Amino acid sequence: MNHFAAIRAQLDRCGVDAMLLTNEANRFYASGFHSTGTDGVAFVTKKNAYYWTDSRYIEAAGQAVTDAEVALTTVGRSYAALINEASERDGVETIGFEDEYMTVAELRQYSERLHATLKPATALMTGLRMVKDEEELAALIGAQRIAERALSEIYNDIRPGVTEKEIAAKLTYLMLRYGAENMSFDPIVASGANGSKPHAVPSEKQIAAGEFVTMDFGCIYHGYCSDMTRTVAVGHVSEEMDTVYHTVLRAQLAGIAAAKAGVPGCDVHNAAAKVIADAGYGAYFGHGFGHGVGVEIHESPRASTTWTEPLPVGAVISAEPGIYLPGRFGVRIEDVIVIRGDGCEDIHRAPKELLILP
Ligand code: ZN
Ligand code: ZN
Repeated sequence: MNHFAAIRAQLDRCGVDAMLLTNEANRFYASGFHSTGTDGVAFVTKKNAYYWTDSRYIEAAGQAVTDAEVALTTVGRSYAALINEASERDGVETIGFEDEYMTVAELRQYSERLHATLKPATALMTGLRMVKDEEELAALIGAQRIAERALSEIYNDIRPGVTEKEIAAKLTYLMLRYGAENMSFDPIVASGANGSKPHAVPSEKQIAAGEFVTMDFGCIYHGYCSDMTRTVAVGHVSEEMDTVYHTVLRAQLAGIAAAKAGVPGCDVHNAAAKVIADAGYGAYFGHGFGHGVGVEIHESPRASTTWTEPLPVGAVISAEPGIYLPGRFGVRIEDVIVIRGDGCEDIHRAPKELLILP
């Protein structure tokens, strides 16, 4: 899968003759080829597409990249020189660059060396990546199915005495075992009082009876991320734990019910936040309802108080309200949804009823 043609189709609208991509996520989106680190440049003009990289990646790039000219950069043939050659050949006078990613030092170097004029154009890529095509959705769903398979097995390991780190390690192993290319992010496993920290780091703490265990994890498949959170109980729950769990679940369902194309992201957040506030827990839900998911685990658009733009058809966002009671416990439930014209589609299959493990 590559998106050279999709990028090319946006050049005129953004007032540039070419797009220069150095950010790894954008290069992957354009070319379908992952080269870790900083070494690789994709360059899309109105006539051609180019992918340049160094000797460590050139063979793999040659095999993976289609619809673009793949060439080698060397000490005597810098990326700037390659960009100048291609610009001359294709009549490029204005080059869009990733103003939200490029470092000040890189920008200075390119400005000095390039013959064409540079123009900030991250928005071209953000706008494209925000709307997923069917191939991208298939990859996202594939990643989700791997995570769900890991989840269904990890329940066998969650019992009093097992540490958060052991659960995190097993989740990682299971996702790799079932076909993940990598983790979307380091798994979060938080039990008992640790659960009140939304992004707790798995610790040596042993899981105990009467506690919630929150697991937030995801993997990468065909370059696309999954993201999910399930909170399960061990042994038994108090009345308040039960209330909080079901409040979070109702809030998530309210947000999902409000999510459809044309609705501002903040309205989706507010629909969920209202359920939590009405239940008296408004002060304990501090983060946004959802974030875009795709090549990166956090991307546009958002379903948060600050995102006032309407959600587009084909956007993929998480739905993850939570309630966090400091020093006591926390609950978060997270699915990923696809925004459609008349509503949204929850790509998750894992049950969300309160699960109390023995
Ligand atoms: Zn998550
Ligand atoms: Zn998330």
